Amino acid sequence: MKKIQIIILIFILSAVFFPNNLSAYKESAKGVDGELTLAGPPFSGKCVHVADGDTVTVLKNGIPVKIRLFGVDCPEKSQEFGKEAKNFSTVLVKGKTVNVRPRKYDNYGRTIASIFIDGKNLSYQLINAGYGWHYKRYSRSVRMAKAEINARNARRGLWQQENPQKPWNYRHSKKRSNKKKMTKASVSDDENISVFVTRNGSKYHRKGCRYLRGKYLEKTVEEAIHEDYSACGWCKPPKN
Ligand SMILES: [Zn+2]
Repeated sequence: MKKIQIIILIFILSAVFFPNNLSAYKESAKGVDGELTLAGPPFSGKCVHVADGDTVTVLKNGIPVKIRLFGVDCPEKSQEFGKEAKNFSTVLVKGKTVNVRPRKYDNYGRTIASIFIDGKNLSYQLINAGYGWHYKRYSRSVRMAKAEINARNARRGLWQQENPQKPWNYRHSKKRSNKKKMTKASVSDDENISVFVTRNGSKYHRKGCRYLRGKYLEKTVEEAIHEDYSACGWCKPPKN
């Protein structure tokens, strides 16, 4: 009886420490450039929409899948050559059946994938034509790096510009200016809020403050300050 238990234990341990299907998994998970694929097996389907140069929608078993192209970053639509990049992809793939090789999912849940049309990689073609940057942060493809150098040297597409702005920097600066706008808006909202005082208190408060007990009166910040109330240290209402 004991022997059987030991044999079973050895069997379980060997299964845990030497899973012979692990290498098989790694093989099948290898993508085009030897990088791991985590977003499912390749599929083919009709491209039904092109949002911009590097974002397309492909039907997978009739269900639309939004795809961010792997290895390329195209100018945004509001940037120079953004529309040209979109046109380039539209002419090449819209309405056509493409092969999709998923890589992984991004933070927005979009599939990052390589797309092939007639055996050619769309990301590569965009870069080669000067409608996208090789996205070196995520892709180490030598072929795509070379394609970008060729496009630069030949001044194709966006490389006609003296000093083209990198799309990732463009997005970053846009995000920052949006943030600034939001902060400004919330400050001016803060200036217009009502504050509250009690008959015997010397402080003015935000609504719901723990020190605002019993009957209270509503005032503007200006009025409260003019009447010599000072800002509560706990609820920290605006001071001007
Ligand atoms: Zn308070």
